[in-house]
Amino acid sequence: MKLAQRKALVTGAGSGIGRAIALCFAREGAAVAVNDIRREGVEGVAEEIRSLGRDALAFCADVSDSVEVRAMFEELAAQWHRLDILVNNAGIVVLDSSRQQRLIEAHMQRLQGLATPEPLAVSQNVTDMEWRRTLAVHLDGTFYCTREALKLMEAQRYGKIINMASVAGLAGLAGAAAYSAAKAGIIGLTKAIAREAIHCGVYVNAIAPGFIDTPLLAEMDPALKHLIALQAPIGRFGTTDEVAAVALYLASDDSSYTVGQVLSPNGGFYM
Ligand code: NAP
Repeated sequence: MKLAQRKALVTGAGSGIGRAIALCFAREGAAVAVNDIRREGVEGVAEEIRSLGRDALAFCADVSDSVEVRAMFEELAAQWHRLDILVNNAGIVVLDSSRQQRLIEAHMQRLQGLATPEPLAVSQNVTDMEWRRTLAVHLDGTFYCTREALKLMEAQRYGKIINMASVAGLAGLAGAAAYSAAKAGIIGLTKAIAREAIHCGVYVNAIAPGFIDTPLLAEMDPALKHLIALQAPIGRFGTTDEVAAVALYLASDDSSYTVGQVLSPNGGFYM
């Protein structure tokens, strides 16, 4: 087992990629604290972890709220006195249906070799609320949790921080300006903190998945999903287990020379 005796916290672990990572870490021997904004999600996954014979904690907290994040880490420290692995995974996507329709039309025109007759014109309709909430959950949330984790990890001279970015942060995605900006911000944050933290034995890296079949994309138009899958040379969406395998590598001592990197399981969508 690659994570025996380790204690991990995974945010946004009530669903999708975070749940798969939490269960993967537990199977590899770790005790896992699961965070999510909804109570039912975390309680269910914590039960699944306990049924694997591992210790679990459940935290319902909004990662974009620094007061809730601090309280979560204080409770975790009181219970476990250490934290070896933090996965900053919590995230949201705002899928506007008219924006999706424009993207489908643009994709179809491109596939047919036609020039787009009109500008795509989707980011003009992004509201202040969408912009702020997207940056708050992804970028503020990653920073707030990292700040608290570093206090524990620096003292113990050991830690692994894994930030969930996206191909959106590497390539930029049309129709997802706020999300792309937030994920690019996470990549910059990862590299900056990696340079600081490695001196006290804390490894910071990021994962930038391509399109993964999770509840996050449940509201995505099936036609748009199909068109996106066609853009990856592998021809399909990824699975949550395929991302969890990369997280396990970064969480384990196999990645002992991997610092400030962005690993991108994306089926060739972005090279
Ligand atoms: P998911 O199934 O929706 O899981 C994300 C979880 O985070 C949800 O349970 C969500 O709760 C929770 N969450 C949202 N806001 C939160 C907050 N403020 N505090 C704590 N938890 C919060 O989505 P996923 O696809 O697994 O995404 C996980 C991460 O991977 C995200 O950072 C996402 O951007 C990233 N990612 C996903 C893909 C993809 O194609 N799926 C690709 C690249 C990167 P609610 O359901 O209540 O919102």
